[in-house]
Amino acid sequence: AEARRPPHVAMLVTPGMGHLIPLAELAKRLAARHGVTATLITFASTASATQRSFLASLPAAISSVSLPPVDLSDLPPDATIETLMSEECARLVPALTGLLSGLTETTRLVAYVADLFGTDSLDAAVAAGVPRRYLFHPGNLHGLTFILHLPEIDVSMPGEFRDLAEPVWLPRCVPIPGPDVMSSFQDKSDPCYRWMVHHAKRYLESEAILVNSFDAVEPDAARVLSHPEPGRPPVYNIGPLIRADAGEEPRAACLDWLDRQPPKSVIFVSFGSGGSLPTEQMHELALGLELSGQRFLWVVRSPSDEGTVNANYYDAESKKDPLAYLPEGFVERTKDVGLLVPSWAPQTEVLAHEATGGFLVHCGWNSVLESLVHGMPMIAWPLFAEQRQNAVMLSEGVGVALRVQPTKMKEEIAAAVRELMAGQDKGAQVRSNVAALQKAAMEALLEGGAATTALDEVVRKWTHEYC
Ligand code: UDP
Repeated sequence: AEARRPPHVAMLVTPGMGHLIPLAELAKRLAARHGVTATLITFASTASATQRSFLASLPAAISSVSLPPVDLSDLPPDATIETLMSEECARLVPALTGLLSGLTETTRLVAYVADLFGTDSLDAAVAAGVPRRYLFHPGNLHGLTFILHLPEIDVSMPGEFRDLAEPVWLPRCVPIPGPDVMSSFQDKSDPCYRWMVHHAKRYLESEAILVNSFDAVEPDAARVLSHPEPGRPPVYNIGPLIRADAGEEPRAACLDWLDRQPPKSVIFVSFGSGGSLPTEQMHELALGLELSGQRFLWVVRSPSDEGTVNANYYDAESKKDPLAYLPEGFVERTKDVGLLVPSWAPQTEVLAHEATGGFLVHCGWNSVLESLVHGMPMIAWPLFAEQRQNAVMLSEGVGVALRVQPTKMKEEIAAAVRELMAGQDKGAQVRSNVAALQKAAMEALLEGGAATTALDEVVRKWTHEYC
């Protein structure tokens, strides 16, 4: 009877749509191709309306359950999101152990998968006796390489990354200038940094690491990590896992607007599920778009002048009317060429639309993958987390993005937008590089493609002794 029950996997989703979307996509693939059912375990702190409706739309093979709320009021008010997530996860180990023990009784639980900031939850899976314990890295191989090397760099490197005169060279990775190293590594006195070292060490305790990337976007790093290495879990590149078109009803008005624009004429501007700009940069961006003369579709959020650029991270909806912060007269002057969407747009549908021709993106990894799968050249405008690192590898590695400098004045933004959309020099090169990567991304997902083969192997391991 045991063998006839479908294999079940429990997945811990640490906060952020950028974690939920790819894990849900992984669960969908497991269900569709392998008949594996899944439980997505979420944190109470992320119960936003966006997340709730997303979870409700998943197929019946995928259930979701929220962990109980955790009191984090003892943490300092300036604790970073990485610290908050890590603390929340560590404090939830007893509750999670109970939940997983329950699942071992009601389902044929073959594996547990925790994402990035959830390494402490591996303890819960051990305590509950879940046979296989994997990690899911929602970023790319560059980010993973850095994390895997962090414990040794922590010991060998005095001082801070941002003060390094030379870029950081990691095996077969694009060299990363110190100030572009991920934000959670930038201040050794912050608990967030210690958490990252902690997670990095615990990465090694998983049985394998699943990564949402594909070889062609970082071919050299892929060559290194695809080889087994003693003391390091095997790494499986199972991407690009991107969100399928939601096909929401009623259809979003911005898609109707796109229907009326010429092919490849619109640049889509968005900063992920939580990113927002300080007022001054928001103004430069607005004026830069206007100056470029190109059509644009911009997901506008209220500015983040409280000193954080990810003020909306836990809840994708902006609190106030974001359009109120734009420069005087901007909306009126650009109404024939631009569309402003407050807070949230159906991003994959926008990128798939034939009127869209480019993407000004914060370099969140999900957005980058979606951009590549839809063949969109990018302007890299990184904000936080590992986004600056991603901007470096995309612009200087595979050459699929133009990077605007951190000063970001309107003239520079306008020039980059024009070059990306219509330029004959760097823009043309980026557009052609993207076309090649789009092809590789699609191939990875086909029957016999790298992602499909890797996931088949993972499922074989999960179910081998238990069927
Ligand atoms: N997203 C969306 N509409 C928006 C903003 C974001 O659908 O207006 C989706 C986007 O398609 C992507 C995810 O939210 O799948 C954002 O993930 P990413 O890793 O790019 O950035 P993060 O939100 O983690 O900063």
